[in-house]
Amino acid sequence: MAEVAVLGSGFIGLSCAYWLIRDGHRVTLLDPQGPGEATSYGNAGTFANYGCIPVNNPDVFRNLPRFLFSSTSPLRIRWGYLPQLAPWLVRFMLSATRSRYEHSARALASILSRAFDGYREMLATSTLASFVQQRECLYLYSNPGSFKAAQPSLDLRRSLGVQFDTVDRDGIRQIEPDLAPIFEHGILFGGSWFLSDPRGFLQALHTSMLAQGLQHERVAINTIEPQRNGVHLIDESGRTHGAEHAIVCTGALSKRFARQCGDRVPLDTERGYHVHFPFTSHLLSRPCGWAERGFYMTPMTGGIRAAGTVELGGFGPRKNPALLSLLTTSAQQALPGLPQPDSTWLGFRPSLPDGLPVIGRSRASPRVVYAFGHQHLGVTLGGVTGSVVADLVAGRTPAFDLNPYSPSRF
Ligand SMILES: Cc1cc2nc3c(=O)[nH]c(=O)nc-3n(C[C@H](O)[C@H](O)[C@H](O)COP(=O)(O)OP(=O)(O)OC[C@H]3O[C@@H](n4cnc5c(N)ncnc54)[C@H](O)[C@@H]3O)c2cc1C
Repeated sequence: MAEVAVLGSGFIGLSCAYWLIRDGHRVTLLDPQGPGEATSYGNAGTFANYGCIPVNNPDVFRNLPRFLFSSTSPLRIRWGYLPQLAPWLVRFMLSATRSRYEHSARALASILSRAFDGYREMLATSTLASFVQQRECLYLYSNPGSFKAAQPSLDLRRSLGVQFDTVDRDGIRQIEPDLAPIFEHGILFGGSWFLSDPRGFLQALHTSMLAQGLQHERVAINTIEPQRNGVHLIDESGRTHGAEHAIVCTGALSKRFARQCGDRVPLDTERGYHVHFPFTSHLLSRPCGWAERGFYMTPMTGGIRAAGTVELGGFGPRKNPALLSLLTTSAQQALPGLPQPDSTWLGFRPSLPDGLPVIGRSRASPRVVYAFGHQHLGVTLGGVTGSVVADLVAGRTPAFDLNPYSPSRF
């Protein structure tokens, strides 16, 4: 039994805390924010066990002009951020060869195939299970050309064990009658589900762990200093928090801690947005993703959340009105019953250029373990990440190869 400090109380940090407490460790969360208040708050809430296709596919070069200059493109770059983004972007482009793309897809499929095992036990408690909606996610294509263009990636998914069924226009209408009749093809992903309130789920998990002895210190950590038999964590006021092990789960803000521990990881952020339509949840029974527009509409507690898009533009808090407008009008086009949204949100996906997370021990000390960079999949991969982090702390061999996620792969 050891003293373990977990930095960050999003999906990744709380899942790590869960598995570490299960192993009998004394766990302290260090985070100035409450559970699920950063990127883990505003996501689309899908358990996307099918999400093994990285963004950096070999067609990215061919599609780039359309992505960057079409008014309905869900991908944007803040050109003023380009100088800082350049190293990440170059690595992203270099990852877009067939062999690297397929390597990332295989590595994602490997961890995704274990994603449910990471949550199974948590979801045996009725409070947490009450947030889970067992409805498969539906992916929609409005343009037959883009459905055709998606076939190689669908074939790759199938070859990697992802189960799905295709549905036609009539099938879509039967499943989701309130959708506008603009979708020609749909994909229903087997075994996927969604959370009706991602932050509510994390708050309930946090409450149950406090009852089991979890401590939560509301401090921001500035510096990690590995010691011979432990780790010192120095907060903003200069106070030192000691622990035998430290787990870095600070999402998109993890890069500096890796650097302090001797690892240069090219972490950046893919900004994403949501708009919320109050009192509309009855219009859908499941998350519906509009493939060409890069977002999901998820029926959550309180209304439909349209969440997605990718903006490469760093950490500034300023929202992009064009992307919010695209999300709003696209959602209203797909679901004509939607009113005006009552709120908008911007979040920061922690993303590495090869589309894989970083899970592993630091160069400076095996007592500092990283768990960040879960890009579009942090909700899905929280549980399994927590379970392998607990393995690393205990010195157990994880059930699958962690080399693809190694911090030293860059
Ligand atoms: C629009 C959108 C839709 C998405 N949809 C989905 C989806 O449907 N399914 C899915 O699986 N994933 C989805 N994601 C991705 C998912 O939300 C993220 O991968 C996930 O939330 C990342 O979790 P995290 O715990 O790593 O980071 P965060 O939730 O960002 O948590 C990091 C924590 O670290 C803390 N912190 C930061 N700095 C410090 C410091 N110095 N000291 C102490 N604490 C610190 C922060 O306060 C924060 O609480 C989506 C993301 C976006 C933006």
